Amino acid sequence: MDCLFASSEAHPLIKTGGLADVSGSLPRAIKNAKHEIRLILPAYPAAVANAGALNCVAELSLPGAAAPVRILQGRLPHSRVRLYLVDSPQHFDRPGGPYATPAGDDWPDNAARFALFARAVCEIAMDRAGLDWKPDLVHCNDWQTGLVPALLSLQAGRPATLFTIHNLAYQGLFSLAEFQALQLPMDWWSMHRLEFHGRMSFLKGGLVFADWLSTVSPTYAREIRTPEFGCGLDGLLEHRKARLTGILNGVDYRDWNPGRDRLIPHTYTARTLRLKLENKIALQETFELPPRPQIPVFGHVGRLVEQKGVQLILDLVPELLQRPMQMVILGTGQPELEAALQKARYRHPTKIGVRIGYDEALAHLIEAGSDVFLMPSLFEPCGLNQLYSLRYGTPPLVRRTGGLADSVIDADGPNLYQQTATGFVFDDVDAAQLLRAIDRALNLYAQQRVWKDLVQTGMRQDYSWERSAAAYLELYEKVMELHLRPTDTQSAPARGEAGATA
Ligand code: ADP
Repeated sequence: MDCLFASSEAHPLIKTGGLADVSGSLPRAIKNAKHEIRLILPAYPAAVANAGALNCVAELSLPGAAAPVRILQGRLPHSRVRLYLVDSPQHFDRPGGPYATPAGDDWPDNAARFALFARAVCEIAMDRAGLDWKPDLVHCNDWQTGLVPALLSLQAGRPATLFTIHNLAYQGLFSLAEFQALQLPMDWWSMHRLEFHGRMSFLKGGLVFADWLSTVSPTYAREIRTPEFGCGLDGLLEHRKARLTGILNGVDYRDWNPGRDRLIPHTYTARTLRLKLENKIALQETFELPPRPQIPVFGHVGRLVEQKGVQLILDLVPELLQRPMQMVILGTGQPELEAALQKARYRHPTKIGVRIGYDEALAHLIEAGSDVFLMPSLFEPCGLNQLYSLRYGTPPLVRRTGGLADSVIDADGPNLYQQTATGFVFDDVDAAQLLRAIDRALNLYAQQRVWKDLVQTGMRQDYSWERSAAAYLELYEKVMELHLRPTDTQSAPARGEAGATA
């Protein structure tokens, strides 16, 4: 099987969130399972710098590009996966992030940037770049690649298309003028195609036109078909539910393994948990908290956005101060959340540690040195930190949503008795419920034998990419078969045919 994997970020080339972890790990796991898979990304300066040796293998003339677009070829670092970088300096050679300026505003030409990227992906997918290779399937990810299935739908003899939703809340919405500037088929300006409440949605390009849809956990696959989680697209997703699959992400245990982690001061295993305590002291020192090994530390790492439920934690600060615990938080995001956390830290420096910023090494230390990992997300397509924290012997405390619901088993009576519990789960977006879960964790922490069982059960869980990759490979085969032998009307719309309702 030959697959082209299109993404706007991939670890270790460039990363803003979980999508990069998936794009850096899944292709490698599929390649290791002896299938041909090639990764394609925009040639941002960071991606070029981190990729190592690159050579130009093609030049393409594409609509929207003033100069020929070069295709640079190399390898995804630490893998055998062939990498293509779409090098259009006009679109991608600039400082700042992949989607935003150094000041944090979206690039004003994002529609043009990711339309250009999609056109380059299509040329390679159709073997029109002179690379003498044509994939059987193109695996697209999130709105930045949403135009790929749409553009490919216009091509006879195209590969099959799979579109994975990593987060439905990011939709790539643009104005009618931007839509017109892209010179896409005018009939795509329709609620049955790309139009979404008077704007163009790149995401709908994937949702409407891909042969199959997937998302990153079975629970999120169900949730996004409801108004509460559907971001206005629940009708379309319900319509396509027979072709919507949830596959939980995996963990790259080469990077996230407390037994071999070079980013933590003391490596440890389930049998040497006393060394975890040394990391805790290092963590307390790093955050200038009193170094008290017996006090439970609650950790959190993540983007400081509403989705992650940080406001619930902030609401509880007065309550948490009354309890024998410390809390450390690393993140960057919305200025008002950053400021509120800084304020809490300033007022209560012996109980709360806060670091604003993006810091890979500190994220590892928090996983290793904390006793409980907090993830009270309002929604969470998959979530990776709870999977890391299981392996680090740091029971996650999560809200029952998306991938959190699929990966954490609550420490209630029966689960504790059967030694299947791995963490703490609460149901509603409600600070009182979060507090009750925190109190349950504190109670259990005081019972060291039960706590050790909980920790060790979590550390035994296997969320390796090999498992997820096997599920993706099964899906790839199904999608390809369906593409070659379409049998029902649920397939992506053919040219000129209405396929779905929004
Ligand atoms: P999302 O994709 O919504 O951001 P995930 O839990 O799926 O959330 O993945 C987030 C990834 O980004 C994890 O690998 C996490 O450790 C990392 N991360 C997020 N914020 C930071 C930060 N401030 N410093 C270091 N790593 C971070």
